[in-house]
Amino acid sequence: MIIKNISKLRKIISSMSNKIIYYVPTMGNLHEGHLKLIKYAQEKDQFLVVSIYVNPLQFDSMMDYKRYPRTIKRDLKILEKLNVDIIFLPENNFSKDNLSKLSLGKITHKLCGLDRPGHFSGVATIILKFLNIIQPDFLILGEKDYQQILVIKQIIRDFFLKVKVLERPTVRDRNGLALSSRNMLIPRTKKNAAENIFRVLKSISREIRMTGLEKKKLEYYKKIIVDSGIDKVNYLEILNENNLDEIGNNPTNARIFISVSISGIKLIDNLKVSKRINLRSGKFISC
Ligand code: AMP
Repeated sequence: MIIKNISKLRKIISSMSNKIIYYVPTMGNLHEGHLKLIKYAQEKDQFLVVSIYVNPLQFDSMMDYKRYPRTIKRDLKILEKLNVDIIFLPENNFSKDNLSKLSLGKITHKLCGLDRPGHFSGVATIILKFLNIIQPDFLILGEKDYQQILVIKQIIRDFFLKVKVLERPTVRDRNGLALSSRNMLIPRTKKNAAENIFRVLKSISREIRMTGLEKKKLEYYKKIIVDSGIDKVNYLEILNENNLDEIGNNPTNARIFISVSISGIKLIDNLKVSKRINLRSGKFISC
């Protein structure tokens, strides 16, 4: 069932008091990454809400917002075929004239928080609206947007929300490129370069495990990426995945994060560093 109206959605959800509510937020242009989250929720055989909303508050550039792929007819067909219980399409006034914004502190002083000023405040503001309206028991999020998961968990903690986050692994194409709605904007001549991103993440992870890695070596990996045809590496960092703190020489919970620009399109990816780390080298990361 497609619902656009907030009070109607609230009514239906409150009549479902005997069901556990799962919620998958999306910006549409659905791909296998989204569908895996949806299918995972459906395995629970409870009540599933999927929203489609291209959130204007999270774009730091009007051009990026305007060209974000919108394929609503196709998306609705897919979701209806999957028998999703509720497809929530908020009306246009959902974020229009919005005055309140969330400020998130140090978690946004890193990675995409620096690279896309205001982005996470926009994400947090909208997700708080959705969580208030839907009041889900479980929120299903993809690891592809790893910093976004941390931001949302912080809001849940800070505002004593009852929802629990379920994180799902990144879905990739057969060449390793993380699926993303933005991939369809990548010029064909740059596809190979984009596929190189994950190869480099794996090489870094392997090097950390096998021999240790000095932080300055990241400059070498950035150069490999740029030489493969990518316009710019916005960041390439290895941080503690729980709080995005620097890891120094302590490899526990390390995750590699990357953002690149190709023809004005930003792509992000990340990879957890496997636990089998060779600590004898004593130089996991040295600054
Ligand atoms: P988006 O439509 O890009 O806002 O993404 C909606 C949800 O799908 C977020 O939780 C994303 O992390 C998740 N998602 C997007 N791409 C992927 C992917 N390749 N694999 C797994 N989850 C994804």
